[in-house]
Amino acid sequence: MTSTSDPELPAPSLLPGLDRPLAIVDIETTGGSVTRDRITEIGIVEVDAEGVREWSTLINPQIPIPYTIQRFTGITDAMVADAPRFEQVAKEIFLRLEGKVFVAHNVRFDYGFLRNAFGNLGFALNQELLCTVKLSRALYPEEARHSLEKIIQRFGIPVDSRHRALADARATWTFICRARNDKPAEDFARAIQNQTRRPSLPPGLDIAVLDALPSAPGVYHFYGEGRSLLYVGKSVDVRKRVLSHFTADHATAREMNLCQQVRDVRVTQTTGELSALLLEAREIKARQPLFNRRLRRVSQLHTLQLREDEQGVLRPEVCTVNQADRSQRLYGLFPAPQKARETLAAIGRERGLCDHVMVSPAKPGSACMGRQLKRCRGLCTGDWSVLQHNTALMDALGKVALKAWPYAGPVALIEHADNSDRYSAFIIDNWCLVASEEGVGEPQLADLKLLDSQPALLDKDIYRYLVKALLKPAPGLRVVPLGTES
Ligand SMILES: [Zn+2]
Repeated sequence: MTSTSDPELPAPSLLPGLDRPLAIVDIETTGGSVTRDRITEIGIVEVDAEGVREWSTLINPQIPIPYTIQRFTGITDAMVADAPRFEQVAKEIFLRLEGKVFVAHNVRFDYGFLRNAFGNLGFALNQELLCTVKLSRALYPEEARHSLEKIIQRFGIPVDSRHRALADARATWTFICRARNDKPAEDFARAIQNQTRRPSLPPGLDIAVLDALPSAPGVYHFYGEGRSLLYVGKSVDVRKRVLSHFTADHATAREMNLCQQVRDVRVTQTTGELSALLLEAREIKARQPLFNRRLRRVSQLHTLQLREDEQGVLRPEVCTVNQADRSQRLYGLFPAPQKARETLAAIGRERGLCDHVMVSPAKPGSACMGRQLKRCRGLCTGDWSVLQHNTALMDALGKVALKAWPYAGPVALIEHADNSDRYSAFIIDNWCLVASEEGVGEPQLADLKLLDSQPALLDKDIYRYLVKALLKPAPGLRVVPLGTES
C-alpha cells in the first residue's frame, strides 16, 4: 500500500530542528513482552524531501493472538494466517527505516520489538529515535495525559481504525504536524532536538570487535584515536556490560561523548568478580583513563576519625585514609575533604550538634552560630552535656562507620574460576589489598606472604565488595586467615 498525500504537510518538507528524513512507525503485537510476544502488523509513514509515503503489512506471528488482543486491535488469527512472516518482510522494513529517524508514540515499545525481531535474524537495528510521548510532554507540559488516545481527542485528529498500525502511525504524524503549526518554530525545534537521541554503536568501532567480546568476568578498556585510553570498566559479563554502554540512554553528554570516541575495546578476562574489581581499580589508579572520573583520585580518599579533647568532647577530624590511625575506627570514605566536611555539617544540623565541634573547631563557652539559630542543642552553652553530645555524635557517625576488620590479621581471599583451574589469590588486611597472585591449581599460601606488597589499596568499591565477600563468601571464593606471626 502506497500513497503520497497528506494535506497537513506541504511537501517536500522536513521538521524544524531535524534535517533528517523520518519513519513514523507503529506496530501491533500479540502482547507486551518483547521476547515472548510477536509482531502482527506494522505501519510506516515515511517523510523525506520527496514527500510523505505510507506502507503497512500484516505479519503472521506464528503464535496464536490472545482473544483480548484480537478484540483490542481487530487483528484476528484468521487475518494473519496468510500474511508474510517477519523474515519475509524484514528486508522491506529495513530499507524503509534505513537512514531515517525512527519516530513512534512510546518509541521504546515499537523499537524494542523491531530491534528484537531483527536481532533474531542477525541484523543490528541502529536508529536515531524520537518519542512523541516525550515530545508531547515537552511541548504541552500543562497536559497530564499524553496517550495517543488523549492526543487524538485533544486535537480532534480523524482516525479511521484505531489500534491498527498504519492508522496509529498516521495519527502520530498528524500530531507532529499539528504541534509544528501550533508552536513557535524555535520552541518546536528545541523540543525535537532535545528528544532525538541515538542509541548507537560508536561510529568508529568495528562491529567485529563487539562480536568477539566474551560473556565472562573481566576488565575492559576503551581506546580512542591514537590508542589513548578512554575508559576502564569491569563486569562479571563483559559482553553484556560493554554493549550496555552503547545501547543505553545516554543520560549525560559525557557518556555520549565517550561512545563517540571509542575506536577499540580490549578485554582482560579474570578469574571472577573480585579479580575484575581489583584489576579495574589498579588499572584506573595506574593509568588514569580520561573518562573514569569516579575512581581517579582514589589515592586521595579521605575519611573521618574521632579524637577526644581535654574536656572529653569527641571531635571528628578529616584525614586521608593513609594518614588515618588504622587501629581506630574510620567513618566514611570521601573522594575529597570537602565532602567529609559537608557530611559533618549535615549530620550536625540533623542531630542538633554543636558547630564548634562539627563545623569550625572551638572550645565551648560561647554560643555557636547554630545555637543562635536554635539548631544546636547547646553543648557550647552548657545546655547539653558532653555525654549527650558524644552519644548523639557516635550514633549519627555509626551509620557511616567502616566495619571493624573481623580478623586478627591479614587474610587470603582465593577466587577460583568457574570453568578452569585458574585462581587469583589476594591478601587483604584491614580492608586494604596488600598483595595478589594468579596461578593454576592450588595457591601456596606460605609463598603468598612473601610477595612484594603493592601500596596498600583501600577503595570504596573494594571495601564494599570485601564486606560482602567476607561476610558471605560467594561460590568459588575462599577466605583463609593468615595469622599474625609474620
Ligand atoms: Zn553550639
